[in-house]
Amino acid sequence: MALKNKLYPLYGKVQHYAWGGYDYIPALLDITNEENKPYAEYWMGTHPLALAEVGENHESLSQLIAENKEAVLGSYIAKNFGSLPYLFKIMDVRDMLSIQVHPSKQNAGADYARENAAGIAANAPNRNYKDDNHKPELAAALGDFWLLHGFKPKEKMVSILSNVDELESLLPIFEEEGYEGLYKHVMEMPQEEVNEILQPLIDRIVPLYKEGKLTRYKEDFWAARAAITFNEGDDIDRGIFSVYLFNLVNVKKGDAIFQDAGVPHAYLEGKNAEIMANSDNVLRGGLTKKHIDVPELLKHVKCEATVPDILHGVKDNREIIYKTPAKEFELSYITLGKDESFSVYSRTGEVFIIIEGSARIGVGDEKLKLAGGEAAFVVAGQKVNMLSSADKTYIYRASAPAGD
Ligand SMILES: [Zn+2]
Repeated sequence: MALKNKLYPLYGKVQHYAWGGYDYIPALLDITNEENKPYAEYWMGTHPLALAEVGENHESLSQLIAENKEAVLGSYIAKNFGSLPYLFKIMDVRDMLSIQVHPSKQNAGADYARENAAGIAANAPNRNYKDDNHKPELAAALGDFWLLHGFKPKEKMVSILSNVDELESLLPIFEEEGYEGLYKHVMEMPQEEVNEILQPLIDRIVPLYKEGKLTRYKEDFWAARAAITFNEGDDIDRGIFSVYLFNLVNVKKGDAIFQDAGVPHAYLEGKNAEIMANSDNVLRGGLTKKHIDVPELLKHVKCEATVPDILHGVKDNREIIYKTPAKEFELSYITLGKDESFSVYSRTGEVFIIIEGSARIGVGDEKLKLAGGEAAFVVAGQKVNMLSSADKTYIYRASAPAGD
Protein backbone atom coordinates (compact mmCIF):
# COMPACT_ATOMS: atom_id res chain seq x y z
CA MET A 1 0.00 0.00 0.00
CA ALA A 2 1.85 3.01 -1.30
CA LEU A 3 1.72 6.30 0.52
CA LYS A 4 -0.55 8.29 -1.80
CA ASN A 5 -1.62 10.92 0.70
CA LYS A 6 -0.44 12.78 3.74
CA LEU A 7 -3.96 13.18 5.14
CA TYR A 8 -6.55 10.38 5.40
CA PRO A 9 -10.03 10.05 6.85
CA LEU A 10 -9.68 7.59 9.75
CA TYR A 11 -12.30 5.02 10.77
CA GLY A 12 -11.97 3.56 14.26
CA LYS A 13 -13.62 0.45 15.73
CA VAL A 14 -16.32 0.27 18.38
CA GLN A 15 -15.96 -2.15 21.32
CA HIS A 16 -19.32 -3.21 22.73
CA TYR A 17 -18.16 -4.20 26.22
CA ALA A 18 -21.08 -4.73 28.60
CA TRP A 19 -20.10 -1.80 30.86
CA GLY A 20 -20.44 0.76 28.05
CA GLY A 21 -23.06 3.48 27.75
CA TYR A 22 -25.87 3.41 25.20
CA ASP A 23 -25.95 6.97 23.93
CA TYR A 24 -22.72 8.95 23.95
CA ILE A 25 -20.62 7.10 21.38
CA PRO A 26 -23.57 6.43 19.01
CA ALA A 27 -24.44 10.14 19.13
CA LEU A 28 -20.81 11.11 18.56
CA LEU A 29 -20.46 8.75 15.59
CA ASP A 30 -23.96 9.53 14.29
CA ILE A 31 -25.15 5.93 14.63
CA THR A 32 -28.73 4.98 15.57
CA ASN A 33 -28.41 2.45 18.37
CA GLU A 34 -31.64 0.65 17.60
CA GLU A 35 -30.66 -2.61 19.30
CA ASN A 36 -29.69 -0.67 22.44
CA LYS A 37 -26.23 -2.23 22.50
CA PRO A 38 -23.59 -0.90 24.92
CA TYR A 39 -21.02 1.27 23.14
CA ALA A 40 -18.02 1.18 25.51
CA GLU A 41 -15.03 2.30 23.48
CA TYR A 42 -14.07 3.68 20.09
CA TRP A 43 -10.51 2.59 19.24
CA MET A 44 -8.29 4.59 16.92
CA GLY A 45 -5.03 2.75 16.51
CA THR A 46 -3.31 -0.38 15.30
CA HIS A 47 -3.95 -2.77 18.18
CA PRO A 48 -4.65 -6.18 16.57
CA LEU A 49 -7.93 -6.52 18.51
CA ALA A 50 -9.45 -3.59 16.61
CA LEU A 51 -7.55 -2.13 13.68
CA ALA A 52 -8.44 1.34 12.44
CA GLU A 53 -8.90 1.91 8.71
CA VAL A 54 -7.90 4.88 6.58
CA GLY A 55 -8.84 6.40 3.23
CA GLU A 56 -11.91 6.14 1.06
CA ASN A 57 -11.31 2.43 0.46
CA HIS A 58 -11.01 1.67 4.17
CA GLU A 59 -7.51 0.31 4.00
CA SER A 60 -5.65 -0.96 7.05
CA LEU A 61 -3.77 1.74 8.99
CA SER A 62 -1.50 -0.97 10.32
CA GLN A 63 -0.51 -1.98 6.81
CA LEU A 64 -0.04 1.61 5.66
CA ILE A 65 2.39 2.11 8.55
CA ALA A 66 4.19 -1.21 8.11
CA GLU A 67 4.88 -0.46 4.45
CA ASN A 68 5.88 3.20 4.94
CA LYS A 69 7.36 3.30 8.42
CA GLU A 70 9.70 6.27 8.16
CA ALA A 71 7.34 8.41 6.09
CA VAL A 72 4.30 7.81 8.30
CA LEU A 73 5.86 7.65 11.77
CA GLY A 74 8.85 9.96 11.29
CA SER A 75 12.39 8.71 11.81
CA TYR A 76 12.49 8.99 15.62
CA ILE A 77 9.31 6.98 16.30
CA ALA A 78 10.07 4.55 13.45
CA LYS A 79 13.50 3.85 14.93
CA ASN A 80 12.43 3.67 18.59
CA PHE A 81 9.07 1.93 18.32
CA GLY A 82 8.73 0.62 14.77
CA SER A 83 4.93 0.95 14.90
CA LEU A 84 2.28 3.39 16.09
CA PRO A 85 3.32 3.71 19.77
CA TYR A 86 -0.08 4.68 21.13
CA LEU A 87 -3.67 3.53 21.18
CA PHE A 88 -6.24 6.33 21.30
CA LYS A 89 -9.80 5.72 22.51
CA ILE A 90 -13.02 7.46 23.30
CA MET A 91 -14.62 5.73 26.33
CA ASP A 92 -18.07 5.88 27.87
CA VAL A 93 -18.23 4.11 31.24
CA ARG A 94 -21.76 3.34 32.47
CA ASP A 95 -20.98 0.42 34.83
CA MET A 96 -17.73 0.51 36.79
CA LEU A 97 -14.72 -1.37 35.47
CA SER A 98 -12.49 -3.78 37.36
CA ILE A 99 -9.74 -2.58 39.68
CA GLN A 100 -6.52 -2.94 37.79
CA VAL A 101 -2.83 -2.27 37.66
CA HIS A 102 -0.40 -2.33 34.75
CA PRO A 103 3.13 -3.71 34.96
CA SER A 104 6.31 -1.74 34.34
CA LYS A 105 8.06 -2.25 31.01
CA GLN A 106 10.82 -4.28 32.63
CA ASN A 107 8.41 -6.55 34.50
CA ALA A 108 6.12 -6.97 31.49
CA GLY A 109 9.05 -8.14 29.37
CA ALA A 110 10.21 -10.70 31.93
CA ASP A 111 6.72 -11.96 32.84
CA TYR A 112 5.57 -12.26 29.22
CA ALA A 113 8.63 -14.36 28.44
CA ARG A 114 8.03 -16.51 31.54
CA GLU A 115 4.39 -17.25 30.61
CA ASN A 116 5.46 -18.04 27.04
CA ALA A 117 8.13 -20.42 28.30
CA ALA A 118 5.56 -22.08 30.59
CA GLY A 119 3.37 -22.72 27.53
CA ILE A 120 0.30 -20.79 28.78
CA ALA A 121 -1.90 -20.17 25.74
CA ALA A 122 -2.49 -16.55 24.70
CA ASN A 123 -6.25 -16.86 25.31
CA ALA A 124 -6.08 -19.04 28.45
CA PRO A 125 -8.10 -17.64 31.40
CA ASN A 126 -5.02 -17.76 33.63
CA ARG A 127 -2.86 -15.86 31.13
CA ASN A 128 -1.78 -12.54 32.72
CA TYR A 129 0.56 -11.01 30.13
CA LYS A 130 -0.70 -10.39 26.60
CA ASP A 131 2.46 -8.67 25.32
CA ASP A 132 5.87 -7.46 26.54
CA ASN A 133 4.91 -3.80 26.89
CA HIS A 134 3.96 -1.51 29.75
CA LYS A 135 0.71 0.46 29.58
CA PRO A 136 0.96 3.98 30.96
CA GLU A 137 -2.37 5.67 30.29
CA LEU A 138 -3.90 9.12 30.37
CA ALA A 139 -7.64 9.80 30.61
CA ALA A 140 -8.96 13.25 29.71
CA ALA A 141 -12.51 13.85 30.94
CA LEU A 142 -15.13 14.71 28.30
CA GLY A 143 -17.71 15.26 31.08
CA ASP A 144 -17.79 14.51 34.82
CA PHE A 145 -15.51 11.48 35.16
CA TRP A 146 -15.11 9.31 38.28
CA LEU A 147 -12.39 6.84 39.16
CA LEU A 148 -10.42 5.17 41.93
CA HIS A 149 -6.72 6.04 41.76
CA GLY A 150 -3.91 4.91 44.11
CA PHE A 151 -4.02 4.46 47.89
CA LYS A 152 -5.36 7.26 50.07
CA PRO A 153 -2.77 9.34 51.90
CA LYS A 154 -2.25 8.28 55.52
CA GLU A 155 -4.59 10.74 57.23
CA LYS A 156 -7.47 9.98 54.89
CA MET A 157 -6.89 6.25 55.26
CA VAL A 158 -7.00 6.48 59.05
CA SER A 159 -10.09 8.66 58.83
CA ILE A 160 -12.08 6.33 56.58
CA LEU A 161 -11.12 3.19 58.51
CA SER A 162 -12.20 4.93 61.72
CA ASN A 163 -15.44 6.33 60.33
CA VAL A 164 -16.83 3.28 58.52
CA ASP A 165 -17.76 1.04 61.47
CA GLU A 166 -17.67 -2.21 59.49
CA LEU A 167 -14.03 -1.60 58.46
CA GLU A 168 -12.75 -0.85 61.95
CA SER A 169 -10.83 -4.13 62.19
CA LEU A 170 -8.58 -2.95 59.34
CA LEU A 171 -7.30 0.13 61.18
CA PRO A 172 -4.82 -1.64 63.51
CA ILE A 173 -3.53 -3.61 60.52
CA PHE A 174 -2.85 -0.40 58.62
CA GLU A 175 -1.22 1.19 61.66
CA GLU A 176 1.04 -1.78 62.29
CA GLU A 177 1.78 -3.08 58.81
CA GLY A 178 1.27 -0.08 56.55
CA TYR A 179 -0.08 -0.04 53.00
CA GLU A 180 1.41 -3.30 51.85
CA GLY A 181 0.32 -5.20 54.95
CA LEU A 182 -3.21 -3.85 54.70
CA TYR A 183 -3.62 -4.55 50.98
CA LYS A 184 -2.15 -8.03 51.28
CA HIS A 185 -4.49 -8.67 54.21
CA VAL A 186 -7.68 -7.83 52.30
CA MET A 187 -6.57 -9.51 49.07
CA GLU A 188 -5.51 -12.77 50.77
CA MET A 189 -8.31 -12.90 53.35
CA PRO A 190 -10.41 -16.10 53.17
CA GLN A 191 -13.68 -15.49 51.31
CA GLU A 192 -15.72 -16.32 54.45
CA GLU A 193 -14.05 -13.49 56.32
CA VAL A 194 -14.63 -11.12 53.38
CA ASN A 195 -18.34 -11.98 53.58
CA GLU A 196 -18.40 -11.56 57.35
CA ILE A 197 -16.95 -8.05 57.19
CA LEU A 198 -18.69 -6.77 54.09
CA GLN A 199 -22.19 -8.21 54.49
CA PRO A 200 -23.22 -5.82 57.30
CA LEU A 201 -21.74 -2.91 55.33
CA ILE A 202 -23.70 -3.85 52.22
CA ASP A 203 -26.87 -4.37 54.23
CA ARG A 204 -26.49 -0.84 55.51
CA ILE A 205 -25.49 1.05 52.34
CA VAL A 206 -27.41 -0.66 49.52
CA PRO A 207 -30.82 0.55 50.82
CA LEU A 208 -29.41 4.09 51.15
CA TYR A 209 -28.12 3.86 47.56
CA LYS A 210 -31.48 2.64 46.28
CA GLU A 211 -33.26 5.47 48.07
CA GLY A 212 -30.92 7.97 46.40
CA LYS A 213 -29.45 9.07 49.73
CA LEU A 214 -25.78 8.66 48.79
CA THR A 215 -23.79 11.09 46.64
CA ARG A 216 -21.04 10.24 44.20
CA TYR A 217 -18.57 12.04 46.47
CA LYS A 218 -18.96 9.23 49.06
CA GLU A 219 -17.20 5.86 48.86
CA ASP A 220 -20.45 4.26 50.09
CA PHE A 221 -22.17 5.20 46.82
CA TRP A 222 -19.65 3.28 44.70
CA ALA A 223 -19.35 0.38 47.17
CA ALA A 224 -23.14 -0.07 47.06
CA ARG A 225 -23.15 0.13 43.28
CA ALA A 226 -20.31 -2.42 43.14
CA ALA A 227 -22.22 -4.76 45.45
CA ILE A 228 -25.24 -4.60 43.16
CA THR A 229 -23.16 -4.97 39.97
CA PHE A 230 -20.64 -7.67 40.86
CA ASN A 231 -21.94 -9.99 43.55
CA GLU A 232 -22.90 -13.45 42.48
CA GLY A 233 -24.43 -15.90 44.91
CA ASP A 234 -23.35 -15.41 48.53
CA ASP A 235 -19.77 -14.35 47.91
CA ILE A 236 -18.97 -10.67 48.10
CA ASP A 237 -16.42 -9.14 45.74
CA ARG A 238 -13.37 -8.16 47.84
CA GLY A 239 -12.74 -5.28 45.46
CA ILE A 240 -15.28 -3.41 47.63
CA PHE A 241 -12.50 -2.93 50.23
CA SER A 242 -10.48 -1.06 47.62
CA VAL A 243 -13.31 1.41 47.02
CA TYR A 244 -12.51 2.65 50.55
CA LEU A 245 -8.71 2.22 50.47
CA PHE A 246 -8.14 4.08 47.18
CA ASN A 247 -8.61 7.76 46.38
CA LEU A 248 -12.06 8.52 44.99
CA VAL A 249 -11.39 11.07 42.26
CA ASN A 250 -13.72 13.30 40.26
CA VAL A 251 -12.07 14.63 37.11
CA LYS A 252 -13.91 17.59 35.63
CA LYS A 253 -14.42 18.11 31.90
CA GLY A 254 -11.18 19.34 30.34
CA ASP A 255 -8.95 17.92 33.11
CA ALA A 256 -7.05 14.66 32.92
CA ILE A 257 -5.31 12.04 35.06
CA PHE A 258 -2.24 9.95 34.28
CA GLN A 259 -1.71 6.38 35.42
CA ASP A 260 1.81 5.02 35.41
CA ALA A 261 2.89 1.43 36.11
CA GLY A 262 1.95 0.17 39.56
CA VAL A 263 -0.84 2.66 40.36
CA PRO A 264 -4.01 0.69 41.12
CA HIS A 265 -7.11 2.23 39.54
CA ALA A 266 -10.69 1.61 38.46
CA TYR A 267 -12.85 3.69 36.16
CA LEU A 268 -16.24 4.20 37.78
CA GLU A 269 -18.33 6.39 35.51
CA GLY A 270 -18.16 8.96 32.75
CA LYS A 271 -16.78 9.79 29.33
CA ASN A 272 -13.15 10.35 28.48
CA ALA A 273 -10.59 10.47 25.75
CA GLU A 274 -7.95 7.94 26.69
CA ILE A 275 -4.50 7.40 25.28
CA MET A 276 -2.08 4.65 26.23
CA ALA A 277 0.94 2.70 25.12
CA ASN A 278 -0.11 -0.01 22.68
CA SER A 279 -0.50 -2.86 25.19
CA ASP A 280 -3.17 -5.02 26.77
CA ASN A 281 -1.38 -5.97 30.00
CA VAL A 282 -3.88 -5.77 32.85
CA LEU A 283 -3.73 -7.38 36.30
CA ARG A 284 -7.07 -7.30 38.08
CA GLY A 285 -7.82 -6.78 41.76
CA GLY A 286 -11.58 -7.08 42.10
CA LEU A 287 -14.88 -5.62 40.87
CA THR A 288 -14.82 -8.22 38.15
CA LYS A 289 -15.95 -11.70 37.25
CA LYS A 290 -12.65 -12.25 35.42
CA HIS A 291 -9.54 -14.09 36.60
CA ILE A 292 -7.69 -12.54 39.59
CA ASP A 293 -4.15 -13.70 40.23
CA VAL A 294 -3.44 -12.24 43.67
CA PRO A 295 0.31 -13.04 43.92
CA GLU A 296 0.88 -11.55 40.43
CA LEU A 297 -1.20 -8.51 41.31
CA LEU A 298 0.72 -7.90 44.55
CA LYS A 299 4.01 -8.07 42.62
CA HIS A 300 3.01 -5.01 40.59
CA VAL A 301 0.90 -2.80 42.88
CA LYS A 302 2.84 0.10 44.38
CA CYS A 303 1.61 0.01 47.95
CA GLU A 304 2.14 3.66 48.86
CA ALA A 305 0.23 6.85 49.57
CA THR A 306 -0.88 8.63 46.40
CA VAL A 307 -2.02 12.20 46.03
CA PRO A 308 -3.95 12.28 42.73
CA ASP A 309 -2.36 14.70 40.30
CA ILE A 310 -5.14 16.26 38.24
CA LEU A 311 -3.71 17.65 35.01
CA HIS A 312 -5.31 20.87 33.79
CA GLY A 313 -3.17 20.89 30.68
CA VAL A 314 -0.58 23.42 29.56
CA LYS A 315 -1.87 26.10 27.20
CA ASP A 316 0.08 26.72 24.01
CA ASN A 317 -1.92 29.20 21.96
CA ARG A 318 -5.17 27.36 20.99
CA GLU A 319 -3.89 24.00 22.16
CA ILE A 320 -4.10 22.55 25.68
CA ILE A 321 -1.47 19.85 26.17
CA TYR A 322 -1.45 17.21 28.92
CA LYS A 323 2.19 16.68 29.87
CA THR A 324 3.16 13.21 31.13
CA PRO A 325 6.43 11.26 31.32
CA ALA A 326 5.17 8.79 28.68
CA LYS A 327 7.34 8.51 25.58
CA GLU A 328 4.63 6.69 23.61
CA PHE A 329 2.01 9.42 23.49
CA GLU A 330 0.95 12.98 23.96
CA LEU A 331 -2.68 14.06 24.12
CA SER A 332 -3.95 17.58 23.58
CA TYR A 333 -7.04 19.41 22.43
CA ILE A 334 -7.63 22.46 20.31
CA THR A 335 -10.55 24.85 20.80
CA LEU A 336 -11.69 27.04 17.92
CA GLY A 337 -14.54 29.53 17.48
CA LYS A 338 -16.40 30.13 14.22
CA ASP A 339 -14.03 30.66 11.26
CA GLU A 340 -10.99 30.55 13.51
CA SER A 341 -7.98 28.62 12.32
CA PHE A 342 -4.89 27.09 13.88
CA SER A 343 -2.02 24.91 12.72
CA VAL A 344 0.30 22.37 14.28
CA TYR A 345 3.21 20.30 12.94
CA SER A 346 2.78 16.54 13.06
CA ARG A 347 5.66 14.84 14.88
CA THR A 348 4.57 11.31 13.99
CA GLY A 349 1.47 9.64 12.56
CA GLU A 350 -1.22 11.65 14.37
CA VAL A 351 -4.97 11.29 14.91
CA PHE A 352 -7.31 14.31 15.03
CA ILE A 353 -10.93 13.73 16.10
CA ILE A 354 -13.69 16.31 16.28
CA ILE A 355 -15.45 15.89 19.64
CA GLU A 356 -17.73 18.89 19.21
CA GLY A 357 -18.44 21.23 16.30
CA SER A 358 -17.00 20.79 12.81
CA ALA A 359 -13.83 21.76 10.99
CA ARG A 360 -11.85 21.57 7.80
CA ILE A 361 -8.49 19.89 8.21
CA GLY A 362 -5.88 20.58 5.56
CA VAL A 363 -2.37 19.39 4.74
CA GLY A 364 -0.97 21.16 1.67
CA ASP A 365 -3.62 20.79 -1.06
CA GLU A 366 -5.33 17.86 0.68
CA LYS A 367 -8.45 18.76 2.62
CA LEU A 368 -11.10 16.97 4.68
CA LYS A 369 -14.34 18.35 6.03
CA LEU A 370 -15.03 16.72 9.36
CA ALA A 371 -18.15 16.79 11.52
CA GLY A 372 -18.42 15.65 15.15
CA GLY A 373 -17.06 12.14 15.70
CA GLU A 374 -15.11 12.16 12.43
CA ALA A 375 -11.36 11.70 12.52
CA ALA A 376 -8.31 12.26 10.37
CA PHE A 377 -4.89 10.63 10.25
CA VAL A 378 -1.89 12.74 9.25
CA VAL A 379 1.58 11.40 8.52
CA ALA A 380 4.71 12.80 10.21
CA GLY A 381 6.34 16.11 9.34
CA GLN A 382 3.30 18.01 8.02
CA LYS A 383 1.80 21.38 8.73
CA VAL A 384 -1.79 20.58 9.74
CA ASN A 385 -4.27 23.43 9.27
CA MET A 386 -7.56 23.44 11.14
CA LEU A 387 -10.43 25.79 10.31
CA SER A 388 -13.58 25.70 12.41
CA SER A 389 -16.98 25.95 10.73
CA ALA A 390 -18.96 25.82 13.99
CA ASP A 391 -19.35 28.30 16.85
CA LYS A 392 -17.32 26.04 19.09
CA THR A 393 -15.12 23.24 17.85
CA TYR A 394 -13.13 20.84 20.04
CA ILE A 395 -10.48 18.78 18.28
CA TYR A 396 -8.59 16.11 20.24
CA ARG A 397 -5.12 15.32 18.95
CA ALA A 398 -3.12 12.13 19.58
CA SER A 399 0.59 12.47 19.01
CA ALA A 400 3.88 11.39 20.54
CA PRO A 401 6.95 13.33 21.65
CA ALA A 402 9.49 12.91 18.84
CA GLY A 403 12.75 12.79 20.79
CA ASP A 404 14.19 15.58 22.93
ZN1 LIG B 1 -5.83 0.91 33.29
